[in-house]
Amino acid sequence: MKILVVNSGSSSLKYQLFDMKTETRLAKGLVERIGCGGPKDHAAALAQVVADLGDAAKDIDAIGHRILHGGEVFTDSALMTKANMAKAKKLVKFGPLHMPANLGGVEACERIFKGVPNVGVFDTAFHIATMPDCAGMYAIDPKYYKKYGIRKYGFHGTSHKFITQAAAKFLKKPVAKVNLVTCHLGNGSSLAAIRNGGVVDTTMGLTPLAGLVMGTRCGDIDAAAVLSIMETEKKSPAEMDTLLNKKSGLLALTGSSDCRDICAMAARGEKKAELALEMLAYRTALYIGAYNTVVGGADAIIMTGGIGENSGEVRERIVKRLAALGIKLDKKANKVRGEVKVISAKGSKIPVVVIPTNEELMIARDTVRVLGNRKV
Ligand code: ADP
Repeated sequence: MKILVVNSGSSSLKYQLFDMKTETRLAKGLVERIGCGGPKDHAAALAQVVADLGDAAKDIDAIGHRILHGGEVFTDSALMTKANMAKAKKLVKFGPLHMPANLGGVEACERIFKGVPNVGVFDTAFHIATMPDCAGMYAIDPKYYKKYGIRKYGFHGTSHKFITQAAAKFLKKPVAKVNLVTCHLGNGSSLAAIRNGGVVDTTMGLTPLAGLVMGTRCGDIDAAAVLSIMETEKKSPAEMDTLLNKKSGLLALTGSSDCRDICAMAARGEKKAELALEMLAYRTALYIGAYNTVVGGADAIIMTGGIGENSGEVRERIVKRLAALGIKLDKKANKVRGEVKVISAKGSKIPVVVIPTNEELMIARDTVRVLGNRKV
C-alpha cells in the first residue's frame, strides 16, 4: 500500500511517500513559496509534487494530511468526506494561518489525485480524545467555552502518539497499559502526560503558545503581564500575538532561537544564554514532576524532537533537576544523537529514554488504519 503524506503549510508544502508494507520511505520533498494560500497555489504545489514523483505518483492508494486543529469534533484521524471538510472549515478560527493551507491541500489533492481517498490527521486529536475536563478547562466563565470553544486542546499530538506507541513497544507493554511523560522538545515544545496510553494533560493550550519556554514563544506567562504590556505600550492584539509567538522565548532571551547557538554561547560563558537554558530546563523538569504525579507514576520519561533527540546538554540540565524522582543520568549514554537509547543510569527509579519521533510515518499509519475502518 502506497501512502502519500502531505503537510500543506502557509508558505511551503512538505511531502513523503511511504510503502506501508515495509514502512519504508520511497520519496521526500519540499515545495516552497506557495504564495498567498489560495487553493490554486496548493494545486500548483501539488502539480510540482506529481512532477517530482514521476511514475511513483501513479499508484498512490491514499493521502494523509497533517491538519493543525480538529477542535472537539475530531477525536481521531478521519476520512475527509464532504461532511468532514465542512466540519473542519468551521475550525479555521482556531488556526487562521495554518488551517486554510491545510484544508487547501486536501482540496487540491481531491482534484489532482482523482478518486484517491484523503485522510485528515489532526495535531489536537490525540489530546482531545482522552484529556479530562479538570485538565482541559480554563477557570474562566464557562460561557466562553460554550460560545467560542475556549479551552485547552494541545498540539504535537501526532508526535506524542507516535512516541507513546514506540515507547510501549520499547518497554514491552501494551499501549493501553503504558504510563509516560513524553517530552517533544524542538523549536516548538510540549509535554504530554500519558496514562494507560491516552493523554491526561499536555502543556500547550488553546493555541501552541502555552507551556514550555520555546524557540520564539514565551510559554506560560501571567495573563495580566500580557495586559500590562498591551496597555502601557498601546499594542493591538495582533501586535501582542506576534510579540508572544514570534519574538519571545529563547530568541528574546539570547538573540537566537536555535538551541545549538545558545549552547555555544553558554559554553563561552555568556550569562544570558546560561539563564535561558536553565529557564528551559527548569520549566521542563517542573512539568515532568507534575506529570509524573498526574499519570500515577511514569513507566518512562521520553525525550524527542530536535532538542530532545540531539542535545545532550539540554537533556543533562533537565535530568539533573529530577533527582527527587530517583532519576540519575548516564553521562556516557547521554551522548546519543537521533537514536533510541536509555540515557538514565542503571538503578534509576524511572528510565529516561531518547526516542526519535516520526510524525510523517504516524500520519501514514493512521491513514491506513482509517481506510481499514471505512465501510465500503
Ligand atoms: P520544529 O519544532 O521546527 O520541528 P525541531 O524539532 O527540528 O523543530 O527542533 C529544532 C531545534 O532542535 C532547534 O532549536 C535546534 O537548535 C535543535 N537542535 C537540533 N540539533 C541539535 C543539536 N545537535 N544540539 C542541540 N540542539 C539541536
